[in-house]
Amino acid sequence: MADIKKIDKIVGVKGMNDILPSDAPMWELFENTVQTVLKSYGFQQIRTPIVEPTALFARGLGEVTDIVEKEMYSFTDSMNGDALTLRPECTASIVRAAIEHNLTYDGPKRLWYSGPMFRHERPQRGRYRQFHQIGAEALGFTGPDIDAELIMLCLRLWDDLGLTDVKLQLNSIGDAAERSQHRIDLIAYFEQHQDLLDTDAQRRLHSNPLRILDTKNPAMQEMVDAAPKLLDYLGAESRAHFDGVQKILNHNNVPFTINPRLVRGMDYYNRTVFEWVTDQLGSQGTICGGGRYDPLIETFGGKPTPACGFAMGVERVLELMKANGEQHQPNQCDVYLVHQGEAAQLQAFVLSERLRNAGLDVVLHCAASNAGGGFKAQMKKADTSGAAFAVILGEDEIAANTATIKHLRDGDGQQSTVAFDAVPDFLVDEIVGASGGDEHVHDAHCHH
Ligand code: ATP
Ligand code: MG
Repeated sequence: MADIKKIDKIVGVKGMNDILPSDAPMWELFENTVQTVLKSYGFQQIRTPIVEPTALFARGLGEVTDIVEKEMYSFTDSMNGDALTLRPECTASIVRAAIEHNLTYDGPKRLWYSGPMFRHERPQRGRYRQFHQIGAEALGFTGPDIDAELIMLCLRLWDDLGLTDVKLQLNSIGDAAERSQHRIDLIAYFEQHQDLLDTDAQRRLHSNPLRILDTKNPAMQEMVDAAPKLLDYLGAESRAHFDGVQKILNHNNVPFTINPRLVRGMDYYNRTVFEWVTDQLGSQGTICGGGRYDPLIETFGGKPTPACGFAMGVERVLELMKANGEQHQPNQCDVYLVHQGEAAQLQAFVLSERLRNAGLDVVLHCAASNAGGGFKAQMKKADTSGAAFAVILGEDEIAANTATIKHLRDGDGQQSTVAFDAVPDFLVDEIVGASGGDEHVHDAHCHH
């Protein structure tokens, strides 16, 4: 080891986080809950690559969007000159995949995805350069029913996660023709208030005036509040679609607020748009956003196929769960296996495999240093592992073909001597019996 050549310490990329073992259980709890909810609505998982052709996002999301203008991790593949981008979102990828594999040939599809997204933003609380989204995309459904279903799916998820302070904002941004009439009037209105427009707004005035409505600049709020409202421009069909969504939500007692200024960051949206917001997360209060994007699939050369979806920011949801007092720290294992001596170590391997066969989670003590392997040190590890039992194999136990089982959870640390071959049954009885027969062996209490 003496002649190892050391290099300067390397730290991770700014705005890209490690998810540490202490946080992993919360991620797992969240991911399991979402997957269960999605499955209960018949959604099927799709996994697409993290890297896509740059054109997919540049054309799909719209040239004048935050993402395409300044947030994409784009690069040239030095091997072949391909223009590639780390995906900033997943809807475009799913549309690409759906067209490429003709996924809707036999009818509409309910899809979901999960994974890291990349945006070169200024890192801050709730805003990272690598972050995670879980989203759903329903392809091929025309009516307002699927919009309502997606919204109710989210609501069920917040309920299952115990999140009460999440509010639904809803709007309709109509269809292209309706937006273009509104746009003319909107530009005229903003031109009358040139002096109040900030630099971003100036730049967007003629390229994407709708996005000005989405400004977070307090100095522009009053002026923006009084701007012509897209809702007043909706034609009969858009109106009926929007009414249809609201009717289902009302019938199912889903509370919502209509926010006429709600627009979404991507160009592909039409009609229904929605966001789930909380005021517990400071300015990064949107935990989920979605809406309809009927034109997108045709734009990419697919058969005209209506579509609707949402994406939620996992980091933000987790932060909200923590703010609500959720602290998920399950025990590392049910059983910690302590052993002394070479013969005992060999038998410890045999026993730990048998215990795993019986469905238990087992940590077998492995050497970490010459000093740390003593009986006391191992018992300390067993304690901190959260295991309900330590199984001890020493020379005496090997000689007698037994194991000593120590209860780590009851106050007086009771010990039993059990025949080696009977240990799995003994522990399964203890653990499953103590938890009333359900699977939550970690909550086991031992009565003796
Ligand atoms: P924002 O207005 O906060 O920038 P957005 O409109 O860019 O959000 P979407 O593209 O709709 O966000 O993404 C859906 C969700 O993903 C957001 O509501 C948010 O919860 C999450 N999200 C977006 N960007 C980030 C980021 N940089 N870091 C963490 N989460 C993010
Ligand atoms: Mg953004």
